[in-house]
Amino acid sequence: MGKLILVGAKVTDGRAAPEVATIVVEGGGITEIRPKGAPATEVGPEDRVVDLAGHLLVPGLIDAHTHLFMSGDIGSYEKELLKDGVPLRTLRASAHARLAIDNGILTVRDVCTEGAGYADVALREAVRAGVCEGPRILPSGPGISITGGYLPQGFAPGVCVPSGCALVDGEDAARREVREQVSFGVAWIKVFADWFATDATTGEARELPTFTRPELSAICDEATRRGVKVAAHVTSDAGARQAIACGAASLEHMGALSRETLDQAAARGIVLVPTLAVVENMLETATDDKKRDRAKRRVDEARAAFGRALASGIAIAMGTDIGAYPHAKSSRVEVGYLVDYGMTERAALLAATRVAADLMRLTQTGSIAVGATADLCAFRGETIAASLTSAQPSLVVQGGRVVRDRLRQAC
Ligand SMILES: [Zn+2]
Repeated sequence: MGKLILVGAKVTDGRAAPEVATIVVEGGGITEIRPKGAPATEVGPEDRVVDLAGHLLVPGLIDAHTHLFMSGDIGSYEKELLKDGVPLRTLRASAHARLAIDNGILTVRDVCTEGAGYADVALREAVRAGVCEGPRILPSGPGISITGGYLPQGFAPGVCVPSGCALVDGEDAARREVREQVSFGVAWIKVFADWFATDATTGEARELPTFTRPELSAICDEATRRGVKVAAHVTSDAGARQAIACGAASLEHMGALSRETLDQAAARGIVLVPTLAVVENMLETATDDKKRDRAKRRVDEARAAFGRALASGIAIAMGTDIGAYPHAKSSRVEVGYLVDYGMTERAALLAATRVAADLMRLTQTGSIAVGATADLCAFRGETIAASLTSAQPSLVVQGGRVVRDRLRQAC
Protein backbone atom coordinates (compact mmCIF):
# COMPACT_ATOMS: atom_id res chain seq x y z
CA MET A 1 0.00 0.00 0.00
CA GLY A 2 1.26 3.45 -0.89
CA LYS A 3 1.36 6.63 1.09
CA LEU A 4 -1.65 8.75 1.98
CA ILE A 5 -0.82 12.40 1.33
CA LEU A 6 -3.17 14.97 2.84
CA VAL A 7 -2.75 18.41 1.26
CA GLY A 8 -4.34 21.83 1.56
CA ALA A 9 -5.86 21.61 5.07
CA LYS A 10 -5.10 23.94 7.92
CA VAL A 11 -3.54 21.60 10.48
CA THR A 12 -3.57 21.85 14.27
CA ASP A 13 -3.40 19.56 17.28
CA GLY A 14 -4.03 22.44 19.67
CA ARG A 15 -0.38 23.11 20.47
CA ALA A 16 -0.15 25.83 17.81
CA ALA A 17 -2.56 27.84 15.69
CA PRO A 18 -3.86 26.13 12.51
CA GLU A 19 -1.42 26.43 9.59
CA VAL A 20 -1.57 24.94 6.12
CA ALA A 21 0.65 21.85 5.94
CA THR A 22 0.97 18.57 4.08
CA ILE A 23 0.68 15.42 6.20
CA VAL A 24 2.16 12.19 4.88
CA VAL A 25 0.88 8.92 6.30
CA GLU A 26 2.51 5.56 5.79
CA GLY A 27 2.25 2.23 7.56
CA GLY A 28 -0.33 3.50 10.03
CA GLY A 29 1.75 6.44 11.24
CA ILE A 30 2.54 10.04 10.36
CA THR A 31 5.88 10.04 8.56
CA GLU A 32 6.19 13.63 7.33
CA ILE A 33 4.79 17.05 8.10
CA ARG A 34 5.62 19.62 5.42
CA PRO A 35 4.76 23.23 6.15
CA LYS A 36 3.34 25.46 3.40
CA GLY A 37 6.11 26.51 1.02
CA ALA A 38 8.28 23.44 1.66
CA PRO A 39 9.13 21.35 -1.41
CA ALA A 40 6.25 19.03 -2.34
CA THR A 41 6.55 15.43 -1.26
CA GLU A 42 7.28 12.87 -3.97
CA VAL A 43 4.13 11.08 -5.17
CA GLY A 44 4.54 7.46 -6.24
CA PRO A 45 2.12 5.45 -8.42
CA GLU A 46 0.64 3.69 -5.37
CA ASP A 47 0.17 6.85 -3.35
CA ARG A 48 -3.14 8.63 -2.80
CA VAL A 49 -3.29 12.42 -2.60
CA VAL A 50 -6.34 13.90 -0.86
CA ASP A 51 -7.11 17.59 -1.35
CA LEU A 52 -8.43 19.00 1.92
CA ALA A 53 -8.59 22.68 0.96
CA GLY A 54 -11.18 24.47 3.11
CA HIS A 55 -10.76 21.95 5.92
CA LEU A 56 -9.28 21.85 9.39
CA LEU A 57 -7.25 18.69 10.04
CA VAL A 58 -7.04 17.63 13.70
CA PRO A 59 -6.10 14.47 15.61
CA GLY A 60 -8.81 11.81 15.99
CA LEU A 61 -10.91 12.98 18.92
CA ILE A 62 -10.85 11.28 22.32
CA ASP A 63 -13.86 11.02 24.62
CA ALA A 64 -12.72 10.23 28.16
CA HIS A 65 -16.21 9.46 29.52
CA THR A 66 -18.64 7.36 27.50
CA HIS A 67 -21.34 4.77 28.13
CA LEU A 68 -21.50 2.75 24.92
CA PHE A 69 -23.90 0.29 26.55
CA MET A 70 -26.56 2.87 27.32
CA SER A 71 -28.92 4.26 24.68
CA GLY A 72 -29.61 7.52 26.53
CA ASP A 73 -33.34 7.43 25.85
CA ILE A 74 -35.19 9.32 28.56
CA GLY A 75 -36.40 7.03 31.33
CA SER A 76 -34.86 3.94 29.74
CA TYR A 77 -32.32 3.02 32.46
CA GLU A 78 -34.41 0.36 34.20
CA LYS A 79 -35.85 -0.91 30.91
CA GLU A 80 -32.34 -1.48 29.58
CA LEU A 81 -31.18 -3.35 32.68
CA LEU A 82 -34.35 -5.24 33.53
CA LYS A 83 -35.92 -5.93 30.14
CA ASP A 84 -33.55 -5.45 27.21
CA GLY A 85 -30.64 -7.53 28.54
CA VAL A 86 -26.98 -7.72 27.64
CA PRO A 87 -27.12 -9.29 24.12
CA LEU A 88 -29.42 -6.57 22.75
CA ARG A 89 -27.46 -3.85 24.55
CA THR A 90 -24.21 -5.19 23.11
CA LEU A 91 -25.60 -5.01 19.58
CA ARG A 92 -26.62 -1.42 20.26
CA ALA A 93 -23.17 -0.67 21.72
CA SER A 94 -21.64 -1.89 18.47
CA ALA A 95 -23.83 0.61 16.57
CA HIS A 96 -22.80 3.36 19.01
CA ALA A 97 -19.14 2.48 18.39
CA ARG A 98 -19.69 2.82 14.64
CA LEU A 99 -21.40 6.17 15.18
CA ALA A 100 -18.34 7.37 17.12
CA ILE A 101 -16.21 6.72 14.02
CA ASP A 102 -18.73 8.65 11.89
CA ASN A 103 -18.06 11.61 14.19
CA GLY A 104 -14.27 11.36 14.31
CA ILE A 105 -14.17 9.97 17.87
CA LEU A 106 -11.34 7.45 17.56
CA THR A 107 -10.65 6.68 21.24
CA VAL A 108 -13.08 6.32 24.13
CA ARG A 109 -12.72 5.50 27.80
CA ASP A 110 -15.95 3.67 28.60
CA VAL A 111 -16.61 4.22 32.28
CA CYS A 112 -19.14 1.59 33.40
CA THR A 113 -21.33 -0.69 31.33
CA GLU A 114 -24.28 -0.09 33.72
CA GLY A 115 -25.16 -3.69 34.36
CA ALA A 116 -23.66 -5.17 31.19
CA GLY A 117 -20.70 -6.66 33.05
CA TYR A 118 -17.61 -7.05 30.90
CA ALA A 119 -19.37 -6.66 27.55
CA ASP A 120 -17.20 -3.55 26.94
CA VAL A 121 -14.07 -5.73 27.17
CA ALA A 122 -15.66 -8.06 24.58
CA LEU A 123 -16.47 -5.09 22.34
CA ARG A 124 -12.87 -3.87 22.60
CA GLU A 125 -11.66 -7.29 21.51
CA ALA A 126 -14.16 -7.40 18.63
CA VAL A 127 -12.99 -3.99 17.39
CA ARG A 128 -9.33 -5.00 17.75
CA ALA A 129 -9.99 -8.16 15.74
CA GLY A 130 -11.86 -6.25 13.02
CA VAL A 131 -15.10 -8.10 13.77
CA CYS A 132 -16.88 -4.77 14.07
CA GLU A 133 -15.99 -1.16 13.57
CA GLY A 134 -15.30 1.17 16.46
CA PRO A 135 -12.88 3.45 18.26
CA ARG A 136 -10.01 2.30 20.46
CA ILE A 137 -11.88 1.35 23.65
CA LEU A 138 -10.49 1.56 27.19
CA PRO A 139 -13.11 -0.42 29.12
CA SER A 140 -13.82 -0.24 32.84
CA GLY A 141 -16.30 -3.11 33.00
CA PRO A 142 -18.92 -3.02 35.75
CA GLY A 143 -17.81 -0.02 37.87
CA ILE A 144 -17.83 -0.16 41.69
CA SER A 145 -19.96 1.31 44.48
CA ILE A 146 -21.37 0.15 47.83
CA THR A 147 -24.63 -1.52 48.85
CA GLY A 148 -27.34 1.10 48.39
CA GLY A 149 -24.92 3.34 46.55
CA TYR A 150 -26.11 3.04 42.97
CA LEU A 151 -28.94 2.38 40.53
CA PRO A 152 -31.51 0.90 40.18
CA GLN A 153 -32.94 2.12 43.48
CA GLY A 154 -36.34 2.22 45.16
CA PHE A 155 -37.46 -1.39 44.82
CA ALA A 156 -39.18 -3.15 47.71
CA PRO A 157 -37.08 -5.32 50.03
CA GLY A 158 -36.88 -8.85 48.64
CA VAL A 159 -37.29 -7.80 45.01
CA CYS A 160 -34.13 -8.83 43.20
CA VAL A 161 -32.96 -6.48 40.48
CA PRO A 162 -29.64 -6.46 38.64
CA SER A 163 -27.26 -3.77 39.81
CA GLY A 164 -25.88 -1.02 37.58
CA CYS A 165 -22.42 -1.70 39.01
CA ALA A 166 -20.50 -4.07 41.31
CA LEU A 167 -21.35 -3.42 44.97
CA VAL A 168 -18.67 -3.99 47.60
CA ASP A 169 -18.60 -3.56 51.36
CA GLY A 170 -15.38 -3.66 53.32
CA GLU A 171 -11.74 -3.38 52.35
CA ASP A 172 -11.27 -7.04 51.46
CA ALA A 173 -14.27 -7.10 49.15
CA ALA A 174 -13.10 -3.86 47.53
CA ARG A 175 -9.63 -5.24 46.92
CA ARG A 176 -10.98 -8.52 45.61
CA GLU A 177 -13.33 -6.73 43.19
CA VAL A 178 -10.42 -4.78 41.68
CA ARG A 179 -8.41 -7.97 41.28
CA GLU A 180 -11.33 -9.68 39.58
CA GLN A 181 -12.04 -6.76 37.24
CA VAL A 182 -8.40 -6.52 36.20
CA SER A 183 -8.31 -10.28 35.61
CA PHE A 184 -11.27 -9.91 33.23
CA GLY A 185 -9.47 -7.27 31.18
CA VAL A 186 -10.55 -3.80 32.29
CA ALA A 187 -8.20 -0.93 31.44
CA TRP A 188 -9.62 1.36 34.14
CA ILE A 189 -11.42 1.05 37.45
CA LYS A 190 -14.52 3.25 37.72
CA VAL A 191 -15.79 4.10 41.19
CA PHE A 192 -18.86 6.01 42.27
CA ALA A 193 -17.18 8.01 45.03
CA ASP A 194 -20.42 9.74 45.92
CA TRP A 195 -24.06 9.10 45.17
CA PHE A 196 -27.49 10.33 46.14
CA ALA A 197 -28.96 9.18 49.43
CA THR A 198 -32.42 10.06 50.68
CA ASP A 199 -32.42 11.92 53.97
CA ALA A 200 -34.53 9.80 56.33
CA THR A 201 -35.98 12.89 58.03
CA THR A 202 -36.64 15.33 55.22
CA GLY A 203 -36.99 12.85 52.36
CA GLU A 204 -34.66 14.98 50.25
CA ALA A 205 -31.93 13.48 48.09
CA ARG A 206 -28.40 14.61 48.86
CA GLU A 207 -24.99 13.51 47.68
CA LEU A 208 -22.90 11.57 50.18
CA PRO A 209 -19.52 9.84 49.86
CA THR A 210 -20.14 6.14 49.22
CA PHE A 211 -17.02 4.27 50.39
CA THR A 212 -15.29 4.56 53.72
CA ARG A 213 -11.84 5.98 53.33
CA PRO A 214 -10.16 2.57 53.92
CA GLU A 215 -12.43 1.00 51.25
CA LEU A 216 -11.61 3.59 48.58
CA SER A 217 -7.92 3.57 49.55
CA ALA A 218 -7.92 -0.22 49.13
CA ILE A 219 -9.45 0.12 45.65
CA CYS A 220 -6.93 2.75 44.53
CA ASP A 221 -4.00 0.89 46.07
CA GLU A 222 -4.98 -2.41 44.47
CA ALA A 223 -5.60 -0.73 41.10
CA THR A 224 -2.13 0.85 41.25
CA ARG A 225 -0.58 -2.51 42.14
CA ARG A 226 -2.31 -4.08 39.13
CA GLY A 227 -1.24 -1.28 36.80
CA VAL A 228 -4.57 0.46 36.18
CA LYS A 229 -5.90 3.84 37.25
CA VAL A 230 -9.10 4.90 38.97
CA ALA A 231 -11.76 7.22 37.54
CA ALA A 232 -13.99 8.64 40.28
CA HIS A 233 -17.54 9.83 39.73
CA VAL A 234 -17.86 12.89 41.98
CA THR A 235 -20.51 15.57 42.12
CA SER A 236 -19.90 16.72 45.72
CA ASP A 237 -16.97 18.36 47.43
CA ALA A 238 -16.89 15.69 50.15
CA GLY A 239 -16.82 12.89 47.58
CA ALA A 240 -14.13 14.63 45.55
CA ARG A 241 -11.94 15.27 48.62
CA GLN A 242 -12.06 11.61 49.52
CA ALA A 243 -11.31 10.52 45.93
CA ILE A 244 -8.36 12.93 45.80
CA ALA A 245 -6.98 11.76 49.16
CA CYS A 246 -7.34 8.07 48.26
CA GLY A 247 -5.53 8.31 44.91
CA ALA A 248 -8.05 8.61 42.04
CA ALA A 249 -6.53 9.72 38.73
CA SER A 250 -9.54 11.58 37.37
CA LEU A 251 -12.62 13.33 38.72
CA GLU A 252 -15.65 12.63 36.56
CA HIS A 253 -18.34 15.34 36.37
CA MET A 254 -17.88 18.43 38.42
CA GLY A 255 -20.99 19.43 40.39
CA ALA A 256 -20.19 22.58 42.30
CA LEU A 257 -16.64 21.68 43.31
CA SER A 258 -14.96 24.38 45.39
CA ARG A 259 -11.78 26.17 44.42
CA GLU A 260 -9.93 24.57 47.36
CA THR A 261 -10.88 21.07 46.21
CA LEU A 262 -9.90 21.83 42.61
CA ASP A 263 -6.57 23.27 43.84
CA GLN A 264 -5.90 20.06 45.79
CA ALA A 265 -6.66 17.96 42.73
CA ALA A 266 -4.52 20.16 40.49
CA ALA A 267 -1.59 19.92 42.91
CA ARG A 268 -1.74 16.11 42.71
CA GLY A 269 -1.89 16.05 38.91
CA ILE A 270 -5.46 14.74 38.91
CA VAL A 271 -7.43 15.36 35.71
CA LEU A 272 -10.93 16.85 35.66
CA VAL A 273 -13.45 15.45 33.17
CA PRO A 274 -16.28 17.97 33.53
CA THR A 275 -18.96 16.36 31.25
CA LEU A 276 -20.76 19.59 30.35
CA ALA A 277 -22.92 18.17 27.54
CA VAL A 278 -24.90 15.95 29.90
CA VAL A 279 -25.78 18.92 32.11
CA GLU A 280 -26.78 21.02 29.10
CA ASN A 281 -28.81 18.09 27.77
CA MET A 282 -30.88 18.08 30.97
CA LEU A 283 -31.88 21.66 30.28
CA GLU A 284 -32.58 21.00 26.60
CA THR A 285 -34.83 18.03 27.32
CA ALA A 286 -36.60 19.28 30.49
CA THR A 287 -40.30 18.53 30.06
CA ASP A 288 -41.79 20.79 32.74
CA ASP A 289 -40.99 23.98 34.67
CA LYS A 290 -39.77 22.14 37.77
CA LYS A 291 -37.29 20.08 35.75
CA ARG A 292 -36.28 23.16 33.77
CA ASP A 293 -35.56 25.15 36.97
CA ARG A 294 -33.53 22.28 38.40
CA ALA A 295 -31.58 21.86 35.16
CA LYS A 296 -30.98 25.61 34.92
CA ARG A 297 -29.50 25.54 38.44
CA ARG A 298 -27.21 22.67 37.43
CA VAL A 299 -26.05 24.55 34.32
CA ASP A 300 -25.36 27.72 36.34
CA GLU A 301 -23.49 25.65 38.94
CA ALA A 302 -21.42 23.96 36.21
CA ARG A 303 -20.52 27.28 34.59
CA ALA A 304 -19.34 28.71 37.92
CA ALA A 305 -17.41 25.54 38.82
CA PHE A 306 -15.79 25.43 35.37
CA GLY A 307 -14.57 29.00 35.89
CA ARG A 308 -13.01 27.91 39.19
CA ALA A 309 -11.47 24.88 37.46
CA LEU A 310 -9.85 27.06 34.80
CA ALA A 311 -8.52 29.41 37.49
CA SER A 312 -7.08 26.47 39.45
CA GLY A 313 -5.03 25.30 36.46
CA ILE A 314 -6.24 21.70 36.78
CA ALA A 315 -5.76 19.61 33.62
CA ILE A 316 -9.10 19.20 31.85
CA ALA A 317 -9.89 16.30 29.51
CA MET A 318 -12.98 16.09 27.33
CA GLY A 319 -15.57 13.58 28.45
CA THR A 320 -19.20 13.68 27.52
CA ASP A 321 -21.22 11.07 29.45
CA ILE A 322 -22.72 10.14 26.09
CA GLY A 323 -25.13 7.28 26.65
CA ALA A 324 -26.73 9.30 29.42
CA TYR A 325 -28.26 11.02 26.37
CA PRO A 326 -28.59 9.61 22.85
CA HIS A 327 -25.43 8.82 20.90
CA ALA A 328 -26.90 10.56 17.85
CA LYS A 329 -26.05 13.85 19.56
CA SER A 330 -22.30 13.04 19.26
CA SER A 331 -19.44 13.76 21.63
CA ARG A 332 -18.28 16.57 19.30
CA VAL A 333 -20.73 19.00 20.95
CA GLU A 334 -18.63 18.96 24.13
CA VAL A 335 -15.85 20.90 22.37
CA GLY A 336 -18.35 23.72 21.78
CA TYR A 337 -19.44 23.71 25.42
CA LEU A 338 -15.82 23.78 26.65
CA VAL A 339 -15.28 26.95 24.60
CA ASP A 340 -18.65 28.43 25.54
CA TYR A 341 -17.82 27.91 29.24
CA GLY A 342 -14.54 29.78 28.94
CA MET A 343 -11.76 27.65 27.43
CA THR A 344 -9.78 28.88 24.45
CA GLU A 345 -10.43 26.95 21.24
CA ARG A 346 -6.95 25.43 21.27
CA ALA A 347 -7.26 24.39 24.92
CA ALA A 348 -10.60 22.73 24.12
CA LEU A 349 -8.98 20.79 21.26
CA LEU A 350 -6.14 19.75 23.58
CA ALA A 351 -8.75 18.56 26.12
CA ALA A 352 -10.27 16.40 23.38
CA THR A 353 -6.92 15.03 22.23
CA ARG A 354 -3.54 15.34 24.00
CA VAL A 355 -4.75 15.81 27.59
CA ALA A 356 -7.19 12.90 27.29
CA ALA A 357 -4.45 10.77 25.68
CA ASP A 358 -2.04 11.59 28.51
CA LEU A 359 -4.65 10.61 31.09
CA MET A 360 -5.04 7.27 29.32
CA ARG A 361 -1.28 6.82 28.93
CA LEU A 362 -1.62 6.72 25.14
CA THR A 363 1.67 8.19 24.00
CA GLN A 364 1.22 7.61 20.26
CA THR A 365 -2.13 9.27 19.72
CA GLY A 366 -3.77 12.64 20.37
CA SER A 367 -1.25 14.74 18.48
CA ILE A 368 -0.09 15.44 14.94
CA ALA A 369 3.62 14.69 14.98
CA VAL A 370 6.06 12.58 13.03
CA GLY A 371 5.97 9.10 14.57
CA ALA A 372 2.44 9.45 15.96
CA THR A 373 -0.33 7.03 15.02
CA ALA A 374 -2.26 8.42 12.05
CA ASP A 375 -5.63 8.97 13.78
CA LEU A 376 -6.86 12.07 11.99
CA CYS A 377 -10.05 13.80 10.97
CA ALA A 378 -10.79 16.70 8.66
CA PHE A 379 -13.70 19.03 9.30
CA ARG A 380 -15.01 21.60 6.84
CA GLY A 381 -14.17 25.13 8.06
CA GLU A 382 -11.18 26.80 9.63
CA THR A 383 -11.94 27.57 13.28
CA ILE A 384 -11.86 24.79 15.86
CA ALA A 385 -15.18 25.01 17.72
CA ALA A 386 -17.31 25.92 14.69
CA SER A 387 -15.75 23.24 12.46
CA LEU A 388 -15.85 20.42 14.99
CA THR A 389 -19.39 21.04 16.19
CA SER A 390 -21.23 21.78 12.94
CA ALA A 391 -21.12 18.72 10.68
CA GLN A 392 -19.54 15.27 10.74
CA PRO A 393 -15.94 15.14 9.51
CA SER A 394 -15.40 14.96 5.75
CA LEU A 395 -12.51 12.53 6.18
CA VAL A 396 -11.62 10.14 9.02
CA VAL A 397 -8.29 8.31 9.07
CA GLN A 398 -7.95 5.56 11.69
CA GLY A 399 -4.52 4.05 12.17
CA GLY A 400 -3.51 5.29 8.71
CA ARG A 401 -6.57 3.89 6.94
CA VAL A 402 -9.32 6.07 5.46
CA VAL A 403 -12.49 4.86 7.19
CA ARG A 404 -14.86 7.71 6.24
CA ASP A 405 -14.67 9.78 3.07
CA ARG A 406 -17.46 12.29 2.57
CA LEU A 407 -15.37 14.74 0.55
CA ARG A 408 -17.42 14.33 -2.60
CA GLN A 409 -20.74 14.89 -0.81
CA ALA A 410 -19.27 17.80 1.16
CA CYS A 411 -18.19 19.72 -1.97
ZN1 LIG B 1 -21.10 8.63 33.28
